[in-house]
Amino acid sequence: MTGKKEKSKERREKRLQEISLLRTIPYSDHQRWWSQETIAVVTGANRGIGFEIARQLAAHGLTVILTSRDTSVGIEAAKVLQEGGFNVDVHQLDILDSESISNFVDWAKEKYGGIDILVNNAAVNFNIGTENSIEFAKQTIDTNYYGTKNMIKAMLPLMRCSSHGSRIVNVSSRLGKLNGRKNRIEDEELRDKLSNLDTLTEELIDNTVSTFLQQVDDGTWESGGWPKSCTDYSVSKLAVNLYTRVMAKELSERPEGEKIYINCYCPGSVKTVMTGWTGNTTAENAADTGVWLSLLPDQAITGKFFAERREINF
Ligand code: NDP
Repeated sequence: MTGKKEKSKERREKRLQEISLLRTIPYSDHQRWWSQETIAVVTGANRGIGFEIARQLAAHGLTVILTSRDTSVGIEAAKVLQEGGFNVDVHQLDILDSESISNFVDWAKEKYGGIDILVNNAAVNFNIGTENSIEFAKQTIDTNYYGTKNMIKAMLPLMRCSSHGSRIVNVSSRLGKLNGRKNRIEDEELRDKLSNLDTLTEELIDNTVSTFLQQVDDGTWESGGWPKSCTDYSVSKLAVNLYTRVMAKELSERPEGEKIYINCYCPGSVKTVMTGWTGNTTAENAADTGVWLSLLPDQAITGKFFAERREINF
């Protein structure tokens, strides 16, 4: 291992140790804005990081709705948490299926009236390690970007109005950094437009991912200046990150008492099915920043990108 890599490994390990210590410090009564009546929805929560986010939120005393695209797998996963004494409900939800989203919304509205936290965790990636197949580009963009976006749009009317604000957390990835050193969009003009909050719009993000998919279809994507590593997944997470910024701007216009805070984070490289268990950290560590963002007592944080509880650049 080179000196630089070793140093960055040491830094990461030190930060993970700090975070494990932070996790042992209980929230004080005045920080705990939530209760058992606080409802958190987690997508793709039947396994991996989503399951851990659900478990940790439930351990903090919230009611968690564990959602899974496969009903029976979701019920089994929820049972593990219910048997541990947690308040966990379960419902089918496929974020690619508009009927499934709409059934879920109707059910949640009928049963709970509204929700307080939405964690968009469900995603797919078809590349392991350094592979860079774009065979499943459309499914990756549809699930990770459009699925997340559709969930946000569908759940917004259900998000409760309160003085502490509702929260949306998008589980994203550093691979989707706009200004990453290696894995970024090479077209400087496009990058500038996407970087600038005045020119960044939902339409521009949609057009950017459409251009990518079009180039995949006509076989020209390799010269299109797209991120070099896990290209389709990186483009999908870039879109999630940028959409987080667009939504934060839009939601910040809501009046006091109706605020919704939205942030995204990178969980690191995690030992889960998605990476073929090749990551360097556990789902428990990876869930931490998502849980921390969901429960932040400081309400003013919105439209930011985090890793290991620290803000990073988009
Ligand atoms: P897993 O593959 O273990 O879990 C992904 C979850 O998403 C599964 O529950 C899966 O359901 C679900 N899912 C996929 N498609 C859909 C869909 N259409 N509708 C509903 N649920 C769906 O991955 P991880 O736990 O590792 O990943 C969780 C999040 O973390 C993702 O957003 C991922 O991009 C992100 N991330 C992960 C990293 C890592 O190193 N693992 C690194 C950076 C980001 P099913 O079981 O039915 O397939």
